[in-house]
Amino acid sequence: VHPAATLVHAFRDSVGRAPDHPALAYFDGRLTYRETDELSDSVAGHLAARGLRRGDRVAIMLQNSPHFVLALLGAWKAGATVVPLNPMYKSGEAGHVLKDAEVCALICSDRAWEAYLRDTAAAAPAVRIAVTACELDFQTENDDRVLTFDRLPVADDADDLVTVARQGLAAPAGRELTAADVALISYTSGTSGTPKGAMNSHGNIMVNAERQRTGHPIAEGSAYFALAPLFHITGMVCQLAACLANAGTLVLAYRFHPGVVLDAFAEHRPAYTVGPSTAFMALAATPGVTPGHFASFQVISSGGAPLPPALVEKFRAAFGPYLRNGYGLTECTAPCASVPPEREAPVDPVSGTLSVGVPGPDTVVRIIDENGADVPFGEQGEIAVRGPQVVSGYWRLPEATAAAFPDGELRTGDIGFMDREGWLYVVDRKKDMINASGFKVWPREVEDVLYTHPAVREAAVVGVPDAYRGETVRAYVSLRPGSAVEPDELGAYCKERLAAYKYPREVEILAELPKTASGKILRRELRSPR
Ligand code: ATP
Repeated sequence: VHPAATLVHAFRDSVGRAPDHPALAYFDGRLTYRETDELSDSVAGHLAARGLRRGDRVAIMLQNSPHFVLALLGAWKAGATVVPLNPMYKSGEAGHVLKDAEVCALICSDRAWEAYLRDTAAAAPAVRIAVTACELDFQTENDDRVLTFDRLPVADDADDLVTVARQGLAAPAGRELTAADVALISYTSGTSGTPKGAMNSHGNIMVNAERQRTGHPIAEGSAYFALAPLFHITGMVCQLAACLANAGTLVLAYRFHPGVVLDAFAEHRPAYTVGPSTAFMALAATPGVTPGHFASFQVISSGGAPLPPALVEKFRAAFGPYLRNGYGLTECTAPCASVPPEREAPVDPVSGTLSVGVPGPDTVVRIIDENGADVPFGEQGEIAVRGPQVVSGYWRLPEATAAAFPDGELRTGDIGFMDREGWLYVVDRKKDMINASGFKVWPREVEDVLYTHPAVREAAVVGVPDAYRGETVRAYVSLRPGSAVEPDELGAYCKERLAAYKYPREVEILAELPKTASGKILRRELRSPR
């Protein structure tokens, strides 16, 4: 457990140690630890002056930018619980969360505010404070992408964040938070249905931030590149919290744009980053990418989504670094298993699945049957997790909480197995299993085979209704730039390598596969009739 109760405490320690070191870097802009502290104090002072009370909810709906960090620290310094919102949300999705979490203050981009949030906020009765921040547009590659802190947004009936941050207000007194307070209500990404708000405490966050620091030691003051979005728990904990607790520089580049990311790697020479496997596939396929772009990294983690073993090897052969797998969920405040330093994750010889690592300290991972009893080593079952990073439940959903956390142990909904040495393997999500004539097919295994084909960039396998088999296996793939292959060839390639009931009977090639804002491939969208 981290000695600091909350990230605000750990951040203040970093301010004390390195006041003039850059805390945040954003294109040409830098904010030192002292400046970040003062500006976020002012955000806190403003929120409190507008009537925000301790424990009230503040929603932050921003891309990876200094504004996100100022809003987050400011809200916590004002004693609030933060509700991070996906900045891609449109009014309906945002409105659901604003109402569900009874959000009092909304901090969003001026563009989103103008486009649809003004009306949405008006319809959510609790929202009384709105703050907007200028945002960038990456559709065009020109100098407009450089945001300085002087460019002010245009909102008329919401306060603007830059002015608020520069008022020089003091953070309100008496709002000190403890490890037990709810830091975040994190709505799950919704790959499997309606988002639920997991309540991550400050203690949950600091446990995983500390594990990040000790598990993957990174020199104090190093640059951390924010590849994963900060509104998602992986970005928030493994990047933002781990960096600010380590007096590092958090390098922000708005949202994922491969060319911009590679430029930022070259400029800032980051030591650490984490992202979904899809981000690394996209970087590997970017014109002009060289091993030099990755030369500064001490650790690159891949988490939040399956990591095909073929990608790890192709990436290492082409660029040098080893992609370190990690397994986590919003309900575990990001990782609960990871690959220890100096080790490499084994590949299961039977299924070809890459291990996600071993459970973290004080974390007990069990593989269980339907009755909650342990299954033997090597056998598949549901992954259940107990540990100091596991949340206490979902916001105002007692039934969903009781179902997902019997006795405080998280039932992940993922199927996995553990070998005798304690390496954990994630087979797939329980609900993504394909039942073809009574045979169980796990999409991951088929996807892993597709990824070994040289032409395949991304692959997703789903079950679709079939009159004869009940369900049949269908694969969607996107191709590497400059590659060509016929769908039938890919089907035959899998048929040679998989049991007859597993290979995809139908293969479709798409330009892009649908993804969540955090970069995960959305199988749900591929399953629904198109
Ligand atoms: P929802 O809960 O709304 O369906 P979600 O499951 O995508 O959304 P997250 O908490 O972001 O929400 O994702 C956690 C899930 O991601 C895990 O349950 C697991 O299925 C998958 N996952 C995470 N890390 C890995 C990994 N290293 N390998 C395979 N799958 C992973």
